[in-house]
Amino acid sequence: MLCLVLSDIHSNSEALKAVLDDASPVDQVWCLGDVVGYGPDPNGCVELLRAFPHRCIAGNHDWATLGKLDLRDFNPDARDANLWNRQELTPENLAYLEARPERLVEGEFTLIHGSPRYPIWEYIIYASTAQVNFQHFDTQICFAGHTHAPMIFRLGQEEGEEVCEAITPSVEGPISLGAERLIINPGSVGQPRDGDPRASYALLDTEAFTLEYRRVAYPVEKTQAHMMKHDLPLRLVLRLGYGW
Ligand code: ZN
Repeated sequence: MLCLVLSDIHSNSEALKAVLDDASPVDQVWCLGDVVGYGPDPNGCVELLRAFPHRCIAGNHDWATLGKLDLRDFNPDARDANLWNRQELTPENLAYLEARPERLVEGEFTLIHGSPRYPIWEYIIYASTAQVNFQHFDTQICFAGHTHAPMIFRLGQEEGEEVCEAITPSVEGPISLGAERLIINPGSVGQPRDGDPRASYALLDTEAFTLEYRRVAYPVEKTQAHMMKHDLPLRLVLRLGYGW
């Protein structure tokens, strides 16, 4: 099975369309949460996703938009965008987001938004955080989003001790997933934060057991114009241009 693994779309349907076009045809889409928040087209994103055979879990911005998290825990720009997203969403799309689980297991893969330990909120940025988190899922591999930066954490052995290594992935063709335990972050579709404004995603081949990282350019200025039209916070508009 060929799976498009993506995360953190954040209501950016221009970026999502570019990713779906670039990756197709795929058998399934696995979305690691934060479909909405920040951007200008929450309904468009939910509906694009729902047009594909897919799995999707909940992220912190999805929950904030639904009113399931305290908006005081978000910075003012994120909070304003979440409130606007909440007003925009149709009852049907709100119900879809409401029904997303915090965690899914698909064969050898666990899907969560933040971390296996705290699926909604925890950021896995460092190898030390990743290492602790290997105790909190049972499959060989876990897919996580939330940081908006592509990253692989590999759990290995050194002189009988467990060690965790952080690897910044390149986009040069498929890599073999091997037999070691991994936490894999595909980066963000709709608001990359690694200095590259192009949408980030990964293609997983479950039979060949390989993963390929990809970046795809999309019309950033269209999303930015759409955000300006709805008076979304300027800082959120500008950051899409430099991928941070
Ligand atoms: Zn996010």
